[in-house]
Amino acid sequence: MLNYFKLNLLKKGVQTSSYPDEPFYPPEAFLGCPELDLARCTRCGRCVEACPASSLTMVPDGLQLDIANCLFCAACARICPECITMGKAFELSTKCREDLKVVFYNE
Ligand code: SF4
Ligand code: SF4
Repeated sequence: MLNYFKLNLLKKGVQTSSYPDEPFYPPEAFLGCPELDLARCTRCGRCVEACPASSLTMVPDGLQLDIANCLFCAACARICPECITMGKAFELSTKCREDLKVVFYNE
């Protein structure tokens, strides 16, 4: 326990980043906004069913992702790694709610 405190809590120097004054590069395990590549999508709907926040909706030519509702939980990417990966994007704020509804089209 003492070693934990020595190693992790008693570090000297600056332990924070200067974001947003300087760019922030997320670590490898960071889960940002999902990215959909529907070239291999079969429109099975499993990702829609798996999403706990109802952020994914089938639309006539693809899938709509509502980023405002998304939890970045990766449930969709786990169930369909062929089409969905978790990206690193996190600077997603906008003044227009509708800008957060993004449609990805089947190729
Ligand atoms: S993205 Fe994957 S899980 Fe979602 S509808 Fe297409 S094939 Fe099915
Ligand atoms: S990351 Fe989670 S909340 Fe966001 S669309 Fe995928 S399953 Fe839904």
